[in-house]
Amino acid sequence: MGQRAALDPAGGPYRLGVIGDPVAHSLSPALHQPALDQLGIPAVYERWHTPAADLAKRVKSLRDPSILGASVTVPHKIAVMSMLDDLSAAARRAGAVNTIVNRDGALFGDNTDIYGFGVAVSDALRGRPPRVAVILGAGGAARAVVLALEAAEAGEIVVANRDEERAARLAQDLDPAPVRPMRLDEDFLTEELPRAELLVNATSLGWHPGETPIELQRLDLLPASAVVADLTYRDTDLLLAAQARGLKTADGLPMLVHQGARAFELWTGSQAPVAAMLGAAQAARAAGT
Ligand code: NDP
Repeated sequence: MGQRAALDPAGGPYRLGVIGDPVAHSLSPALHQPALDQLGIPAVYERWHTPAADLAKRVKSLRDPSILGASVTVPHKIAVMSMLDDLSAAARRAGAVNTIVNRDGALFGDNTDIYGFGVAVSDALRGRPPRVAVILGAGGAARAVVLALEAAEAGEIVVANRDEERAARLAQDLDPAPVRPMRLDEDFLTEELPRAELLVNATSLGWHPGETPIELQRLDLLPASAVVADLTYRDTDLLLAAQARGLKTADGLPMLVHQGARAFELWTGSQAPVAAMLGAAQAARAAGT
């Protein structure tokens, strides 16, 4: 849905970009430009820094025939929804858009984070659905994780958040996904971690050394076979501590790449060169760009 026919190679030049505030450190240009170049698509992928006050103007500009679409990142994934002409069922259900496609002047919003986490977690779990998955955080990314786990037929999804009401709202909005909302506290940790086959950090904590969503010693409560995933695409203290305990881990880079690959296909109508995109993202991360 929303995918266009393959672009005319004689057309263009086209433009794409990432809309957010900030966008200076986004890895999206590093993912997409080599993929566009590899397929010979005459397009440039840019950083479109957009404060909230400029969002409506920016979204309007996407209707220009030279624009194929855009990625949407923090803090605009919810606010853009009301500015678009049509939404995918996934975006409607998640209540967030991370990809906009310009279809002849009409703007279509989709949520490819769900697909991205779904592929990444399936790889990490070798295709075996978790009986119990525990998610830390209840923001927009946690919603995508819940929908991906629902599609993967997870048995039970425990969502623990500092603000318990936000977790409860998530459970209500995503009903009938099998979500149990909880407060992220000591009781939750002692009750739920021993049952978890998958632990996902979907909070915004982890980008800086010393930032952890739970005390690292609490990882001792997990079963030895548990997988620890972090949406942050660096080696967070949580992942390093999990590795030190012999647990299998997955960082957020594969999710970023797979959500980007799906968006690329919606914009261009061509199959995304996923392996090249992953390699480019890894190189950009290593170079700190
Ligand atoms: P939101 O702002 O929507 O949600 C942030 C979450 O973090 C909330 O649950 C919030 O809890 C929690 N949180 C923030 N500070 C603290 C704290 N001090 N203690 C406990 N909990 C805290 O952000 P998103 O959901 O959009 O993004 C979350 C993370 O996922 C970010 O790091 C983002 O970069 C990453 N991400 C990665 C993607 C990828 O492709 N790898 C894709 C999308 C996101 P509360 O409600 O109590 O405030």
